[in-house]
Amino acid sequence: MALYFISDLHLSPSVPTVTAGFKAFLTELTPQDSLYILGDFFDAWIGDDEDAPYYRNIIDELRALTEQGIALFFQHGNRDFLIGDRFAEETGATLLPEEHLVEDQGLRAVVLHGDSLCTRDQEYMAFRAQARNPLFQQQILSLPLEQRRVMAAQLRAQSKHMNSNKAEDIMDVTPEEVSALFERHEVDTVIHGHTHRPQRHPHPHGERIVLGDWHDTGWYLKATDETLELVEFPL
Ligand code: MN
Repeated sequence: MALYFISDLHLSPSVPTVTAGFKAFLTELTPQDSLYILGDFFDAWIGDDEDAPYYRNIIDELRALTEQGIALFFQHGNRDFLIGDRFAEETGATLLPEEHLVEDQGLRAVVLHGDSLCTRDQEYMAFRAQARNPLFQQQILSLPLEQRRVMAAQLRAQSKHMNSNKAEDIMDVTPEEVSALFERHEVDTVIHGHTHRPQRHPHPHGERIVLGDWHDTGWYLKATDETLELVEFPL
């Protein structure tokens, strides 16, 4: 029985290697394991009514996983903030709030996507506030699917800064926000993604573990009773 944490796969039809790598990774999990996906699983998500075969296939893969008795938990990233209840129902996943306490396998950790820690990027924080606004989300979701597809493509083309996947274009976390997070949840471990800077950082309160983005290699954090390992593997 192990806990796995992943984030920032940025799955889309344009990354077949990452998609195949994810499917191969799933075969390592066994019943009673838990998989925590900490956001930006998809490079874009235009709504749970998405009907493109690529995405339906991913949903089927996740469904097969939960049907085997693997617990699946999902947090929103800044790319897939429109994931909703229908997706959860279809996959068997549990949608988690922005910050979630995991107490299992000897861990007492708070997990989050990580973008909320990057407060020095004011332009990004303004985008984040809008993206997480339920009214804004409703407005988007009320548009026809085809129109949302066009919008998603335009958004990506327009703003190379906001839509970049490169670590150097994503501002790193604000140290004070990290400390406040440890204190707010009274934990000794923080696990997040988003910044694409995979690393285990010792912290006065314990340890902050940053998951990696999947590109040429994949990353996961595996927790068991005895071990806590951040693993990089070739795709
Ligand atoms: Mn992100």
